[in-house]
Amino acid sequence: MILLSLDIDGTLEIGDPPGAFSLALVRHALDRGYIVGTASDRVVSDQRRLCEEHDLELAFVGHKHMLDEVRARFPQATRWIHVGDGNADYVYARQHGFEFHWIHELPEPGTPGWIF
Ligand SMILES: [Mg+2]
Repeated sequence: MILLSLDIDGTLEIGDPPGAFSLALVRHALDRGYIVGTASDRVVSDQRRLCEEHDLELAFVGHKHMLDEVRARFPQATRWIHVGDGNADYVYARQHGFEFHWIHELPEPGTPGWIF
């Protein structure tokens, strides 16, 4: 079971600034049964509002510096992945045992070991 944590600004299509991770790809991940959520510096209420605006039903919204809480909430996951665009994303992901991927260096679909 894959858990996918996404930064918002600079990472998601609906971020400010927009990033390369499209809503279509988010929905594709959900269709695959992945546990998908956001981990951002934004306040949680703002993240929830953004999801509602775009009709996204995510498993969690949280903060990137508290990815350990996300990990603890979903013990059924076997891979924890965070995608982001900033050094804080990298640092917190690694600190909390997540695989980290830069949004500008996402593997091509079909790459061995990648989730798409
Ligand atoms: Mg960002």
